[in-house]
Order: sequence, then structure tokens, then C-alpha cells
Amino acid sequence: MMYLKLPREDFDAFFKNLQEYGKIYGPVKAGSSAYNFKEVTTLDEMDLSYNRTIVPPKKFFVGLKEKIFEFDEKRAEFREVIEDDPRKVIFGIHSCDIHALKLLDKIYLEDMADKYYLERRRNAILIGIDCHPDEHCFCKSMGTSYATDGFDLFLHEISDGFFVRVGSMKGHEIVAKNKGLFDPVGSEDIEEFKRSQKKRLDEFKLELNLSGLQDMLELAHNSQIWDEYAEKCLGCGTCNLVCPTCRCYDVIDFVNLDITTGERVRRWDSCMLRRHGLVAGGLNFRPTRVERLRNRFNCKGSLLEGMLNCVGCGRCTVYCPAGIDYVEVLRKIAGD
Ligand code: SF4
Ligand code: SF4
Repeated sequence: MMYLKLPREDFDAFFKNLQEYGKIYGPVKAGSSAYNFKEVTTLDEMDLSYNRTIVPPKKFFVGLKEKIFEFDEKRAEFREVIEDDPRKVIFGIHSCDIHALKLLDKIYLEDMADKYYLERRRNAILIGIDCHPDEHCFCKSMGTSYATDGFDLFLHEISDGFFVRVGSMKGHEIVAKNKGLFDPVGSEDIEEFKRSQKKRLDEFKLELNLSGLQDMLELAHNSQIWDEYAEKCLGCGTCNLVCPTCRCYDVIDFVNLDITTGERVRRWDSCMLRRHGLVAGGLNFRPTRVERLRNRFNCKGSLLEGMLNCVGCGRCTVYCPAGIDYVEVLRKIAGD
């Protein structure tokens, strides 16, 4: 890892120079206390002290609703389509969201790589930034509060600028092109970086005990706890849509009036919606809200090559219209 310092007076020039890598998207206020990643052209448009965005950065890599190819049945042809510009800079991504993308990489890139996801991932620059946890963040418990890889550059604010970690070849290229803007780190900067990390870890208020989580979930299969929360749940699917690790999607073919040409579209899906389990013949393999709620918690508590399917971002708790608190449910399941 290479460590550098970006003095505050060079921050604006650094930001402007990133525009050569594509459009820049950063955290912008959306209402009184909510944020979303939006296109920005100046530093002032962003609030880099944001807690979390409503929609996670997965939206840049798997479109909410995207055409994947057009087909012509008569000619037996199809044409693959990527509708957006895959070149972009995601500025100010948090560590938990970087971990979530690493999980999505396993799904979309290992075995048979998804070319749409791959194209966007290859062409995107990720600039991480330190966050300060609020009462709903529990990434420290999930081991995702610090990213050691999965980013190009990571910025840690210190008194007179940023302590920068360079995490990839693309990150090295950016630094090389902007070498006049960076300084070597001094011992004072290193000490300040260490102090800021310690302070940040001490700020976490919410903790989740993960010990035996998978067993606890399995043993709770018939628990009344699911009924209690299913009674409150509106079945709206928001928890899936805002979750940075949820990746269920639906594939639909739209055929034109000529009945030979059309397009294939994929769009985000939600396992909390009743129709998610509906299959041909009208059978629904998860017909009740209790089953859907339990399935979601089991999915989030399961491991994918050693990584949990939850990074502790707190979005599902914050944006659940029924006030269902993710950590509270798991604590009840574990008997805490
Ligand atoms: S399950 Fe909830 S807390 Fe965990 S990653 Fe998804 S939205 Fe964030
Ligand atoms: S966001 Fe809340 S109400 Fe909506 S489906 Fe998820 S748990 Fe149920």
C-alpha cells in the first residue's frame, strides 16, 4: 500500500482532474437527512460527512431496470446493449459499501462473469472516504468498518488535508498523473491518521454479537418472533432495494407488435414481495409474509465464501416504513 498526503489547498484541483475518468458521482443531500449518489461537477455540491445514501452504489453496476439486449427472432440475431456510460468516478464511497461491492464481485464475476457488470466495474474509479457512525451503523461488528482493498484511493481526513491510501493500479495512475498535488506523509500525519481511526472506532454505539448466528437462525425456524415481525411488515420490499448486498433480479422479454423483434430487460427484484415466489402454474413457494421475512434474515445471516451477506450499513432499519429494526430482530433470535 502506498500512503500520501493530499493538502487541503489541492483538494479542489484533485477533484477537477478526476473528470477525465468520466462523470463524477458523489453524496448529495436529498431532503433533510437523506443522501443519494448524484452527478456532481464541484466539491460544494457534495456533503462528504454524510452517513449513508438511500440507494447504495450497486446502482452504478447493476441498473435498477436495464435493457441487456435487443433481439430479432426472424434473423436469429441479438445485439447486446449497455445503455449508460460505464466510465465514472464514485467519489466518497464508504467502507461498508466497498465491502458490499466485493461481495457482488463474487456473485457477478466469479465462474461466469456478467459482462454488463464487468464492463461497469472495470471502468469505474472508487474514491473512498472515512465515515462517522450513527446509531444505526454496526459495520464494526460485521468486520466491514475498514476497507483494506476494493478501492482505488481512500481519503482519511486529517487537520490540513487528507491522508490517502492508494489501493489499486488505477489509483497509482491517478497519483502519477497528479503527482504535483500530493506530498509524502510525515510522522505527524501518520500519528494523526492513527488517532482518527481509534476515535472513529470508539464512536460506534451499536454492536451485534455474531457468535453462532447461523445456528441461532436455524434453531429459530419455528419461532414466534417471525410472526411478531411479519405482523408489522408491509411487504413493500424497501429493505431489499436499499440493501447494498441484495442482488435478486427478474428478467423480462418485451416483444414488439411485429412479434419478432423485442428486448430483454432485467430489473431489481425483492424477495419480500409476494410475487417473488410465484412460478409457472400459479404455485408460490414462499406464500406467507412470515416465510419471506424469515428467508430474508436467513439469507443475510448466511456466508458466501466466508463473507456475510450483510455489511452493517443500517439502511434496512432506517428506511423500513414499519420500523422493523434489523439488529433488534437478530438480537431477539439470539436470545440477547
Ligand atoms: S441487511 Fe440491512 S444492514 Fe445489512 S447490508 Fe443490507 S441494508 Fe445494510
Ligand atoms: S422494508 Fe420493512 S415493511 Fe418493507 S418489506 Fe422490508 S421489513 Fe417489511
